[in-house]
Amino acid sequence: MSAAPNKDPAAVETEVREKIHLEILKRTGAYHSNDHILLPSGQHTSEYIEKTLVTTEPSFTEGLGAVIANHFAPWPVDAVMSTGPAALILSHCVARAHPSRPVLVYGTKGLSGGKRRVSLPVEFQRLIRPGTHVLLIEDLVSTGTTLNLLISLVEQLGAHVVGIGCLWRRTSVELNDRPVFSLVSRDFPTYSPDECPYCRKGVALNEEFVRRRAHRRPSSVQEPKS
Ligand SMILES: [Zn+2]
Repeated sequence: MSAAPNKDPAAVETEVREKIHLEILKRTGAYHSNDHILLPSGQHTSEYIEKTLVTTEPSFTEGLGAVIANHFAPWPVDAVMSTGPAALILSHCVARAHPSRPVLVYGTKGLSGGKRRVSLPVEFQRLIRPGTHVLLIEDLVSTGTTLNLLISLVEQLGAHVVGIGCLWRRTSVELNDRPVFSLVSRDFPTYSPDECPYCRKGVALNEEFVRRRAHRRPSSVQEPKS
C-alpha cells in the first residue's frame, strides 16, 4: 500500500493561514459561509462578504495588518498607500508594524466621465517622489481596477511599487505580475437559480442581504436650512 501523497508544506501553511483569517473575518460579522444566499444580482451563493464590516474590530485589523507587514519586512518601504476607508484603516496597521517605519498616504476616489479615478492630494506629493518605495494596501480585491489605478499613479510620479498587500483577493484578478500577498485568496462560486445546487437540495434561501438593502436606508442628518 502506498503512503498518502505528501502535500507541499508551503501549500499546507497557506491553507491553514487562510482558515485562520477566514475565521477572524467571520468573527467581525463580515464573512458568511455555509449558507444559501440571494445576491443583489439575483444569483445564489454559499459565501458572502460585507466589505464595510471587515475593519470594525481594531485588534483584529491590527493583527492582520501585522501579518502583511511581516511578509513585506525584508523589503525597504518608504510609504504605504491605499484608497477608501477600510483600506486606509488596514494600511495604518501595516505601516505601524513595518520595520522601515514608512509614512502613510492615501489617494481619493472619484468618477470622471463615468470612469473611476484615483487622485493623490497635493500635500502628499512630496512624499511620493522618483525612487520612493511604495507598498500598496487594499482590503478586498474583486476586480483589480482600483489597484491598477494606484499602480499607475505611483509610477506616474516615478516611484516604485514594492508590492501589494490585501486581506482578500479573488483568484481571477490580474495585477500585471506584481508581487501580491493576500491573507485569503478565493472566489465565491455563484449560481443562477435554475442551476443552483442548494436550491436543488431544498436548502432555504437567505434573502436577508438583499432585503436589508431594499428596506434600510443609511442613517443621516443634515444641517438645517437657514
Ligand atoms: Zn439557490
